[in-house]
Amino acid sequence: MRNCKNCNRWRKLSDYKPYFSKKRNKEYLRKTCEFCCKKKALERYYNFSDKQKNDFRERTREYAAARRRQEGKPVRNIHKVGYGSGRVKKFVGCLNSVSPQPIISQAKKLQWNNDMIAKGAGVDIRRVRGWINNSDRINIDAADKLCFALGTHLSLIYPYDET
Ligand SMILES: [Zn+2]
Repeated sequence: MRNCKNCNRWRKLSDYKPYFSKKRNKEYLRKTCEFCCKKKALERYYNFSDKQKNDFRERTREYAAARRRQEGKPVRNIHKVGYGSGRVKKFVGCLNSVSPQPIISQAKKLQWNNDMIAKGAGVDIRRVRGWINNSDRINIDAADKLCFALGTHLSLIYPYDET
């Protein structure tokens, strides 16, 4: 947990997006939470003129297509829609717990033993045994902590599929 620089609320570490510092060649978490970042971006967008909005959307589409190409994913054929045509954005991600399997296999890949996993997630080792049997789901806070300890990010282990 950490305070956001902008809204000053206590937030989970997974609420802070990581960024890569080329200068230090290291990944850091932003000081401002994801919600504040989004809000700021939205405010900026709403102050755009219609032409700026269209240009912005065009660029975003191109970046997304380039990223998917680089990741080897198929580039979806998105209709070129102008601003104001009203595409509905789905909001997903209100999860309290996740399946332990992806995060446990990540820990095993790094040759972490159960004790290290328990410490990383800040839980008792008995919990970890439940996760390894795949009988218990992993609480989102514990998953978040464990991801951070593993040097990764919750959104990378549990990617949200846009489709
Ligand atoms: Zn904030």
